[in-house]
Amino acid sequence: MSASDAAMRSFIEVARESDFPIQNLPYGVFSTQGSAPRIGTAIGDMILDLSVLEARGLLSAGVSKVFDKPTLNEFMALGPKAWENVRARITQLLRHDEATLRDDAALRAAALIPKSAAQMHLPFEVASFSDFYSSLQHASNAGMILRGPNAALMPNWRHMPIGYNSRASTVVVSGTPVRRPLGQLKLGDAPPIMGPCAKLDFELEMGFVLGQDSRMGEMLNEAQAQSMIFGFVLLNDWSARDIQAWEYQPLGPFLAKAFATTISPWVVSAQALEPFRVATPVQEPQPLPYLRQAGLNNYDVKLEVWLKSATMSAPAQISHSNFRYMYWSSVQQLMHHASTGCAMRVGDLLGSGTISGDEASERGSLLELSWNGTQPLSLPNGQTRCFLEDGDELILRGYAQGDGYRIGFGEAAGLVLPALPVPV
Ligand code: CA
Repeated sequence: MSASDAAMRSFIEVARESDFPIQNLPYGVFSTQGSAPRIGTAIGDMILDLSVLEARGLLSAGVSKVFDKPTLNEFMALGPKAWENVRARITQLLRHDEATLRDDAALRAAALIPKSAAQMHLPFEVASFSDFYSSLQHASNAGMILRGPNAALMPNWRHMPIGYNSRASTVVVSGTPVRRPLGQLKLGDAPPIMGPCAKLDFELEMGFVLGQDSRMGEMLNEAQAQSMIFGFVLLNDWSARDIQAWEYQPLGPFLAKAFATTISPWVVSAQALEPFRVATPVQEPQPLPYLRQAGLNNYDVKLEVWLKSATMSAPAQISHSNFRYMYWSSVQQLMHHASTGCAMRVGDLLGSGTISGDEASERGSLLELSWNGTQPLSLPNGQTRCFLEDGDELILRGYAQGDGYRIGFGEAAGLVLPALPVPV
């Protein structure tokens, strides 16, 4: 029986719509009151404390002193064989027909913590953060808005995954408030001013984290790239469209995307997503040989965007999309990233880029949803939005739907705080 078997169940009750059945088992870093952050896995509404299992010698041989840690980096660095062994062992311990944990009340009391009693932390130390621009629909929409229909896609776009080096220092875990940034704004013909961003946006993305290094000067083939990917998170790459418009030429976005990036607290392993692999869309022209892939490297993950304004009692869904729409796969992004000899490191976070679909309801940013503020979006309570306002909470959700279970990602949420006063 594989770890993704649809019929498998745990002795712990898991609701049918839960993001976290026994088939998922994502990794996260949590703490409870008065205790240090450590590593756990989510099962239903509970967290299984892996540091407790490790301390009692209940995890795989060869795995020690990696779970009583405030980040996943040391565990990830053990490599794919260890990831597989640990996942198989945790799966076994949580099964309905396995007595070790199920029938040991003292062990259960020590190792199982209600999610409601835990605080989640950033799951890994982000080594570097690079962000791509690999959704054809998003790149086309953004290009049309910024440059017009005749120059929507730049000539390089279909030849390589376009990306830029972003900031690791401001990647934050879901629930961290995001302050509206101040920045240089150029309004019409007037000289630039320093002021609060008036076009604050979100970007619906997936991120993936590397669990293995590559050496400087070495390219990666498809199998190597696949084996380096530890897992996936939801990612909101908060963006200041007006700051971006003035600063981005000629070197691309800088501070407009450097003030905050929110990720979900649970890292869903590549293994848990195995049953949901799908083909990448047809790539025309055919990519250069170093970017070609034989495997199914996209994933069918349904994505949702929800917004709750300060006066709304519950969030409303404002968009939906799917990770499978990506024109360039994560594996191709990684092969491209290393192709000049750029060394990749454990803990590197790579963002997919905003994921939009063909339909107007599948746009992954407010830039596209409101067509740069020209078509305000209506909320259920009668309010409208062109861009985010103070007090808005923006929530990303996502899951892969299996046969009777789902591999969910939880949430990547953030509340918009008002800007600080402008220095005079
Ligand atoms: Ca982005």
